[in-house]
Amino acid sequence: MNDCILVINCGSSSIKFALVPLQADHPRPGGLVERLGTSEPVLKITDENGIRQQFDLAGADHPAAMKAILEHLGERQPIAIGHRVVHGGERFKSATLIDDDVIDGIRKCTSLAPLHNPANLDGIEATRRLFPELPQVAVFDTAFHQTMPEHAYRYAIPTELYQKHGIRRYGFHGSSHAYITERLAELSERGTGGWVIAHLGNGCSATAVWQGRSMDTSMGMTPLEGLVMGTRSGDVDPGLHLHLANQCGWSVQQIDQMLNKHSGLMGVSGLSPDMRDLEQAADKGHAGARLALDVFCYRLARTLAALSCALPRLDGIAFTGGIGENSPLVRARALSMMNALRPCLSAAANENLARGSEGRIDQARNDDTTEVRPEIWVIPTDEEGHIARETSELVQTHANHPEART
Ligand code: AMP
Repeated sequence: MNDCILVINCGSSSIKFALVPLQADHPRPGGLVERLGTSEPVLKITDENGIRQQFDLAGADHPAAMKAILEHLGERQPIAIGHRVVHGGERFKSATLIDDDVIDGIRKCTSLAPLHNPANLDGIEATRRLFPELPQVAVFDTAFHQTMPEHAYRYAIPTELYQKHGIRRYGFHGSSHAYITERLAELSERGTGGWVIAHLGNGCSATAVWQGRSMDTSMGMTPLEGLVMGTRSGDVDPGLHLHLANQCGWSVQQIDQMLNKHSGLMGVSGLSPDMRDLEQAADKGHAGARLALDVFCYRLARTLAALSCALPRLDGIAFTGGIGENSPLVRARALSMMNALRPCLSAAANENLARGSEGRIDQARNDDTTEVRPEIWVIPTDEEGHIARETSELVQTHANHPEART
């Protein structure tokens, strides 16, 4: 019997899902529901034979969409459900078995993630109603970063704001950074040393990890801080808000839309938020695309170098996410600006690494044997696999020790 975990990532207008078998190398059916909340939601599903199908879900809300997902997954029913939850605040430091009290705790974190946590809760409540007998686990994006020291997670603003309102840096992409950390420990002889991990997708964040624990990360109280992203600005001068409000008459909502939806690669290039489009356009001489690439790579290099300050020793750098896994150009450009850390990229290994595969891309054997250079790795991320594993481990622990909920 091949047990599997249903992994759910529920947004306000979409539900991503995957049925993850606990035995590695088994097929992983999955898909997504898009356009929830409109008149034409649609379910796109790829079954275990790789066959893709699409179904109209006219009129479906979150519970109806969830029911449709389970019906179309066929005979293979899950033994537990793992939910990606964006914000766990300071309460949730690891994956947690869901009960009414945990739901209440997730709701209390809503002020920190007003767009995400309510949608995550919609997904949890729908699956709890549909499958009251199945154990459900919340896996938090923020949990991996709860090990950050206070000097890394505090903003230099009045302490009262932290104490009364929880305003501090939390970090995100926890399942991805945790997965890459585990994989590095398996792949590299340097094991759980000091690593800087760059997760570069539509959202981008980088994390410094020492002995398996997050020491600092580029995202902050929200996923807007840090690196340049597809449509998100990353770091800007906090004085920008006041300037746009006072000098240009912008509302808070307009500023928020601009920073989250119209900035980043999209904003600088004026062309596209998608790195593939920008690489092609830059190649043909598009000035906006070239500048967007320059800004992206420079800010990336600067952030990776800065994060090395969180580590007693830098053993290596790892790239993941759609851009990190697939763009030799971005990897090479960013590393070429990090001379102070002495990375030694193998141009051939960087260019020739097959898309979607794991590999080491530094010049492993330096002639200069007195100097230890950072290793450079590319590792495709597996957030769903990580959520499924956390879910299954917690459910098993709870079965053996019913008092254990985290
Ligand atoms: P993700 O959010 O992890 O799916 O990553 C999406 C980003 O990865 C988009 O900016 C894509 O353009 C980028 N990406 C995917 N494939 C490639 C590729 N072959 N070369 C450059 N960027 C890519």
